[in-house]
Amino acid sequence: MQPRIGVGHDLHRLEPGAGLLLGGVKIECGLRAVAHSDGDALLHALTDAVLGALGGPDIGELFPDRDESNRGRDSAEFLQAALERAGRAGYRVGNADATVFLEQPKLGGAKEEIRVNLARLLGCEKECVSVKAKTGEGVGPVGEGKAVAAQAVVLLVERSGNA
Ligand code: MG
Repeated sequence: MQPRIGVGHDLHRLEPGAGLLLGGVKIECGLRAVAHSDGDALLHALTDAVLGALGGPDIGELFPDRDESNRGRDSAEFLQAALERAGRAGYRVGNADATVFLEQPKLGGAKEEIRVNLARLLGCEKECVSVKAKTGEGVGPVGEGKAVAAQAVVLLVERSGNA
């Protein structure tokens, strides 16, 4: 079985609130993501990367925002469902590389906390997960503090292999 690579992207608008979820970690700030689910843009991007590596469908097809059962839902469940699909197809996560785009607050030490949590969720070593952070340089929806975005690339490798 050849390794398979997938890419995911997500963006959520920001509004005043009690904190922002990124990679399953609560970032304490005066913002929250506008979303039908819990609005974790990083977990949504990772979920789409896993699904993309498998050839689809995408997160919106699997978990429509018109479905009341997805309201306020823990996005780790979306990622788990994608990983179960990967497992059934004979794959596990080889490595994952992600970038969060957010003007404020600076993620700083939270990046490492997010990385550790993602390794736990993805079922791989921390060394196989990267979490980077970028601002929007003051321009565009991210730069103006109106949105948080995330990009992720995931490599799936054969479950039983040594890759
Ligand atoms: Mg989303």
